Amino acid sequence: MPDRVAIVTGAARGIGAATAQRLAQDGLRVAVLDLEESAAESTADAIGGLAIGADVSDAAAVDAAVARVTKELGAPTVLVNNAGITRDNLLFKMSEVDWDAVMGVHLKGAFLMTRAVQKHMVDAGWGRIVNLSSTSALGNRGQANYSTAKAGVQGFTKTLALELGRFGITANCVAPGFIVSDMTKATAERIGVEWDQYVRDRAAAIPVQRAGQVEDIANAVSFFVDERAGFVSGQVIYVAGGPKV
Ligand code: NAD
Repeated sequence: MPDRVAIVTGAARGIGAATAQRLAQDGLRVAVLDLEESAAESTADAIGGLAIGADVSDAAAVDAAVARVTKELGAPTVLVNNAGITRDNLLFKMSEVDWDAVMGVHLKGAFLMTRAVQKHMVDAGWGRIVNLSSTSALGNRGQANYSTAKAGVQGFTKTLALELGRFGITANCVAPGFIVSDMTKATAERIGVEWDQYVRDRAAAIPVQRAGQVEDIANAVSFFVDERAGFVSGQVIYVAGGPKV
């Protein structure tokens, strides 16, 4: 892989951290972006990357972060929009604050990051955008906000593919199923199911009979980022141990 710079958002931990690590192994220089720079440092240090603190839903913070990456690592031409939150509740109990928070991180965040980075991709005549969707995009009880956002991410991605293809830029989605992470640990806790039991129950409903690991998602992101994936754009790959039922 030629000299490339990637930004992975929400990369202090979980899927983002595994993706940052995988892209570094693939030979990219990686900016590990998360809400707090201090939280991103251990991931960044382990891969010789750059830790950046920014809230992806804050336009000024996003622009400053991208400027800093450009100055310290070089112009970014790979972007993984991975930062995410859940604020689950049944519709009748869901607050406006929780609706807005989820839209702000997943949708506005991906929009702001992509808008800030695309200029560098256009200048380079090459780019890779990978957005994290979810099987929840197909509907999930208790996640009216999150499933809406994750379906929106797919529409956003397909439009990016249409608009940016002529500049050598691809845009694709990875849509994970059940992955072991702090996010799913918080879900188990919220619904009051002991973690090991929760993993067993979820795995039993997955065709390959296991929970997903963060590396499963990082591998799929790595495929889309690869030089050889330049004719794959506007796609959604479900990485869920089977088709979503
Ligand atoms: P996680 O909660 O472990 O990590 C998310 C990271 O995003 C955290 O480090 C957090 O600080 C960061 N973040 C949150 N808001 C941010 C903001 N405004 N600006 C910058 N960073 C922010 O979650 P995860 O399980 O690793 O999930 C990563 C992505 O994959 C998310 O988009 C999530 O929706 C998606 N996903 C996860 C699963 C799963 O089962 N874990 C399934 C489908 C999709």
